Amino acid sequence: MAKNKIGLKLGLVILTAFAVVILLLGWTTNRMFTNFYTAEMRTEAEELTAHFAAMSESPELMSEEALLTFADFSNVRVLYVSRQGQIVAHSGPDEALDPMLVKSEELAPLFAGGKMEREYTDAKGERYYLAARAVLNKTGEPGQTAVYVLSSTRHMDESIAAVRRVLALAGAGAFLLALGITWIIAIRVSSPLLAMQAATRSMAAGDLETRLAVHGKDEMGALAESINHLAIGLQRYRDSRQEFFANISHELRTPIAYLEGYAEVLRKGLYESEAERDAYLDIVHEEAVRLQRLVDDLFELAKMEEGKISLSLEWIDLAELAQSAVQKIKLKADEKRLTLQTKLNSQVPLLYGDGLRMEQVLLNLLENAVRYTEKGSILVELDERPEYAFMAVEDTGIGIPEAELSNIFERFYRVEKSRSRQHGGTGLGLPLAKKLVELQGGQLLVFSQPGRGTRFEIRWAPERGEEQP
Ligand code: ADP
Repeated sequence: MAKNKIGLKLGLVILTAFAVVILLLGWTTNRMFTNFYTAEMRTEAEELTAHFAAMSESPELMSEEALLTFADFSNVRVLYVSRQGQIVAHSGPDEALDPMLVKSEELAPLFAGGKMEREYTDAKGERYYLAARAVLNKTGEPGQTAVYVLSSTRHMDESIAAVRRVLALAGAGAFLLALGITWIIAIRVSSPLLAMQAATRSMAAGDLETRLAVHGKDEMGALAESINHLAIGLQRYRDSRQEFFANISHELRTPIAYLEGYAEVLRKGLYESEAERDAYLDIVHEEAVRLQRLVDDLFELAKMEEGKISLSLEWIDLAELAQSAVQKIKLKADEKRLTLQTKLNSQVPLLYGDGLRMEQVLLNLLENAVRYTEKGSILVELDERPEYAFMAVEDTGIGIPEAELSNIFERFYRVEKSRSRQHGGTGLGLPLAKKLVELQGGQLLVFSQPGRGTRFEIRWAPERGEEQP
């Protein structure tokens, strides 16, 4: 039960509320019935007393004896009491009546024309309702006697007791029902919570395969669904982290192996000419540069993923930026005898972005274009369409198979590993470029046909440019 504390607490609260309601309801009903029976009885007794008093005022119509006999039939006891408090006549068995029945202090107001009523309990403990009135004489003044009517409360007490029994039974039944319902509710509420507790514990212990069954669309269902989403997210995070570390180690291992190998060769003087030595030194340098790039790119990506990168935004003239980037890549393009072309629409509005980052993206796209193109040309285009403005880098290179298009923006993904490595690629260029473009509110898209060429397009909403100074 200690495990099921929430169910217990909830159960206790519901049961207490139920008990309070049942008790209040029982108490009110009991009061209602008691008041009703008492009022009924009082009215009846008063009416009877008035009746007997009226009949006693006309002895010519009915004798005292006949009245007393009539009282027997009415299930009441009638007593005639003198002004001095003496019981002068009474109905019922001829026994001595309790002298305490008549209280001397009540006589004066009674014979002054008033009425009197109260409860009376006899020597045997039997309860009565007592009502009295003075019998008026011919002149309408209170005469020498008063009529006392004693009505037994037994019938009323029995009725009230019966009502109480029914109330107690109904109360006990309602309480048992409430107990049952509470138990069911408590189990229904606590069992999914306990399942969630168990699931989150096993997730914390590393079992991210755990899933909860989602029942219904209420808050519990929503919570279970959120926990499942959390588990899926954590699992994805763990898998990608593992993959990421595996990739990093792999990426680091190759240049380090080269550095080790060639450093060893140089240290042991295992070269035959100065030229050979310089070639080895060049390799060592290239690999060191690649390591540096890898570390820089990783650092950039990590910063971006943590949202820690700060952009210095300004109005950028993209035509100018494109010209400068083309200038920088010209040497590499010339080495491969590739033609560099530009088609720049100077009407394209300025872009509010980070100039250096945009150049970094463009250079990355241009380097890739040179890297994966053997002959033909590379075109840099800047233009706008009704819905967007764009800057594109198009090449006539090897292209990317359609099935690979969706993967090239993933970290360390390369279509052709060896070619990328051979040219110093890290497999981080495109993911970085995409993130940078998105950070500036744009989109990076790719269109490619294997064997014919690739086109990368940076698109942004032209509204951004409309606010320009
Ligand atoms: P890398 O450093 O390997 O170039 P990137 O992230 O820049 O890494 O690119 C990922 C992969 O996308 C590359 O390895 C290459 O296979 C493919 N790729 C990128 N640009 C081009 C292009 N212009 N033509 C053909 N393939 C490309």
